[in-house]
Amino acid sequence: MSLTFQVRRTAGNGRRATLTLPHGAVETPVFMPVGTQATVKAVPQQLLEALDVGILLGNTYHLYLRPGHEAIRRMGGLHRFMSWNRAILTDSGGFQVFSLSELRKVTEEGVSFRSHIDGSSHFFSPERSMDVQIALGSDIAMAFDECTEYPADRARARASLDMTLRWAKRSRDHFEKQKSSVPWGERSAFSAQRSENTAEEGQTPNLFGIVQGGMFADLRRESAERLVEMDFPGYAIGGLSVGEPRELTREMIATTLPLLPVDKPRYVMGVGYPDEIAEYARMGVDMMDCVLPTRAARHGLLFTSEGRLNIKNRQFAEDQGPADPACNCMVCRRYSRAYLRHLMAAQEPLSAVLNTLHNLAFYLETMRKVREEMAGEPIANSQ
Ligand SMILES: [Zn+2]
Repeated sequence: MSLTFQVRRTAGNGRRATLTLPHGAVETPVFMPVGTQATVKAVPQQLLEALDVGILLGNTYHLYLRPGHEAIRRMGGLHRFMSWNRAILTDSGGFQVFSLSELRKVTEEGVSFRSHIDGSSHFFSPERSMDVQIALGSDIAMAFDECTEYPADRARARASLDMTLRWAKRSRDHFEKQKSSVPWGERSAFSAQRSENTAEEGQTPNLFGIVQGGMFADLRRESAERLVEMDFPGYAIGGLSVGEPRELTREMIATTLPLLPVDKPRYVMGVGYPDEIAEYARMGVDMMDCVLPTRAARHGLLFTSEGRLNIKNRQFAEDQGPADPACNCMVCRRYSRAYLRHLMAAQEPLSAVLNTLHNLAFYLETMRKVREEMAGEPIANSQ
């Protein structure tokens, strides 16, 4: 089996489970840090391991453009290329391509777009996205979807969801034919490198389908029902956190979740603030990702048990306390707010490293607490 999902405990609508993938097992609900360009910005892989990150997200669009998916395939896949032996999920590239509003053209066949790096012309289709994700060798690939913009009227959301369903079928058909060509079998000749591939022979990547439907509850329901008929090993809820009010995000998640199979992982893409990810996990979401903790960190915004803290503030200039007194992360155990503020003011690269480490630790700890709450018993903190 290339994916198993064992629900261990439930609490209300939430559940605690073990998701086992070719590159390791992950306890859910889980937060997945975003590693856009084969790196979680500012954080070396060994520190991600020290934080107990079990699964990372990679961005297909960025890796396709640079260094190129065929180059990564030749180097044994993304795991070996970036020396990360734990699980990786890749997005389909659709979200980034659709964000290039001035640079793209959408047809039934796929999307033509220009590179944001050098303006060169490219084409992504469901088949192309599957080929790229298989070359990268992710544990979980995502179906190529159209992320419906916000606001979108009903006719637009309807047309978009219909195309996403046709693309889901094309994605699945192509993926099933090609998935065994994943570059996992190759072993590194350089044994000092921590990049031996742990996937067992015969294992293959997994493909998740994506629910769309804009902000219309009935369209979300229809999208979910038709997608479930295609029988994916897991399902994502996409097209959220695109500018809509938070209440609407919550409503769309609440509407969709009961229609997705209880014995398969459910992933909400691109959310959110710490209190949101905790809330969605309690509603029954198993997986989430967001650039917020890493991006905000580089701008000096720290998430803490006392709320958000802007480390650039003058008030911290001589503050000897940790970023978050309740946090036990490697940054809070060692460095003061005054030092973090100084690094930021002096534009030292270490500023991004330490701020990101704390924010990721805070997000991961938020999920660990939710899991613990569901377990009804303490879980060993591996930090
Ligand atoms: Zn901390």
